[in-house]
Amino acid sequence: MMAAVEVRGPLLVSACLAGVRCRYDGRAKTSDELLGRCRELRLALVPVCPEQLGGLPTPRPPAAFRGGDGRRLLAGQAGLFTAAGLEVSEKFLAGARQAALIARVTGARGAVFQEKSPACGVEQVYLDGRLQPGCGVCTALLRRQEGLSVWSVAGFLGELAGRQGRAAC
Ligand code: SF4
Repeated sequence: MMAAVEVRGPLLVSACLAGVRCRYDGRAKTSDELLGRCRELRLALVPVCPEQLGGLPTPRPPAAFRGGDGRRLLAGQAGLFTAAGLEVSEKFLAGARQAALIARVTGARGAVFQEKSPACGVEQVYLDGRLQPGCGVCTALLRRQEGLSVWSVAGFLGELAGRQGRAAC
């Protein structure tokens, strides 16, 4: 469940949402609506790609959780593996720590992340072969260690719409 907090910047944003070609398949996932709304509100965005920050190449094999989501992985109770069975948990942990460092030095107030990603997923991730409730490794670390709110694009735009609605009352 997303926390109902005031939306303030600067915000970390999944780099692929900002147009960076950093996804596993070498493509971006640009959200023009997100970028446009943040421009209108003059919210500073800090693009980060935790998978690249952890040292993974682009393009790269996709990875999925076994045994639990990002929260469980932080606790050492789950792992991330490619389809070929290669464990990449340490790379994801390293990238999450780097993103947390960037959040601290930029004074980030929250993050808007790409849903379903094993690093950035907010409410859903691929776990044990199917999409399940859970969050990515970086999302889990930012929430637990940095106390940041992390939204999906839909959740963030909904939060902005709610604010506008309340302001208009
Ligand atoms: S790790 Fe996050 S920023 Fe990087 S490609 Fe995946 S969803 Fe996008």
